[in-house]
Amino acid sequence: MGFRSKLMIMTTLVILLTSCSNTDETPVNTNQAPTEEEAYVIEKEISPVEEDSEEGFEEDTITDEDEVIETIESVAIDKESVIWLQESLQMAGYNLEVDGSFGPNTRNVLENFKEEKGLEKDAVYSLKVKALLEIVRNNYKEDQSSTQIDLPEENEVTAKDAIELTEENIYWLQESLKMAGHYTALDGRWGPNTKKALVQFKISKELADVETYDQATKILLEQIRNNKLVDEPSSDLILLNKTNYLPSDYVPNDLVEADLPKSKYMELPKHVALKAKEMFDAAAGAGHELYFASGYRSYAYQETLFKRRVARDGFESAAKVVAVPGQSEHQTGLAIDITTSEMNYGLSQSFDQTEAFHWLVNNSYKYGFILRYQKGKEDLTGYIYEPWHYRYIGDVEMAKEIMTNNMVLEEYFSN
Ligand SMILES: [Zn+2]
Repeated sequence: MGFRSKLMIMTTLVILLTSCSNTDETPVNTNQAPTEEEAYVIEKEISPVEEDSEEGFEEDTITDEDEVIETIESVAIDKESVIWLQESLQMAGYNLEVDGSFGPNTRNVLENFKEEKGLEKDAVYSLKVKALLEIVRNNYKEDQSSTQIDLPEENEVTAKDAIELTEENIYWLQESLKMAGHYTALDGRWGPNTKKALVQFKISKELADVETYDQATKILLEQIRNNKLVDEPSSDLILLNKTNYLPSDYVPNDLVEADLPKSKYMELPKHVALKAKEMFDAAAGAGHELYFASGYRSYAYQETLFKRRVARDGFESAAKVVAVPGQSEHQTGLAIDITTSEMNYGLSQSFDQTEAFHWLVNNSYKYGFILRYQKGKEDLTGYIYEPWHYRYIGDVEMAKEIMTNNMVLEEYFSN
């Protein structure tokens, strides 16, 4: 099959997969399992069993032996030639002393060697015996060097080796494909969306066998992961945006229920919860009753939010409003969304018309918080203006500098 026709099939496949992906996520908030994920049949590539290359040696030996000229001419029996004979018989696997003396033991071993090679069983050291022993010596040297040098090659995996589609492997693949820019939900299942993402990724990297998850794919994805995953997910100064990701299983280790006005159980890391409480109390003292709308969000919850938005608006516009799972500051636990009764407890850009917002802009830095997604900085942050979203960075001086200069973290860290 030519490359062009292969490409045609791939394109058709992508179109087919795209058209069924709509049915994946349409109904919001239902518990139905996406059965088409399971129904998809996996055409796993069967890798051919490789021949054991070591077998070649013995065959070579036999062929060479046949080429040995038949001769019964004797070899001169001197000490030097006897030593050579004894050494060679040792290499052929016989047990004898190398002493240069053509005694009964050496003659006995020679007889056995000749019998083994189908020659007349006598103690005549002929040219034919010498030629056969030369082959033994050469093979012996080759064996020695091959066991010393060539061993590691046997363990090497080849790029075309297919990877087993276990739930764990698929989960890793899905997370990696997402980081490579081909978003798919993390469910550990080999469904149409995952398969589509793999095909798109492999086409973009000009890899062969676009439907197969193989070693070559995994190696490339590993490199991408290394570049995309943030180094220190638990740092208060983490820069998380559209170019990098948290590990999907990252959870802050000191989550507590936030002691703030709120409508449901919500958590923050302990030190962030304490600073937020200080800030809310100070705002209340100045006459602004702040309301805690959102704090720590798990990866899974972010994914639910995101999938819902993708189903409604498509991937592109969803990603502008809702963070792609793994890119939300709410997963770090360092972000809080704030609203007021004046806003009917909703999150909207008109929040910036309220007194409460002005108090926050002027005072949040004192508690280590900054306004994360500033107006006019959408190209830098990748997100719309969010007057309700505050990010804890801890360092008050840094927060002050950022807020007095209307900066965003991207600008601050690039200076
Ligand atoms: Zn937020």
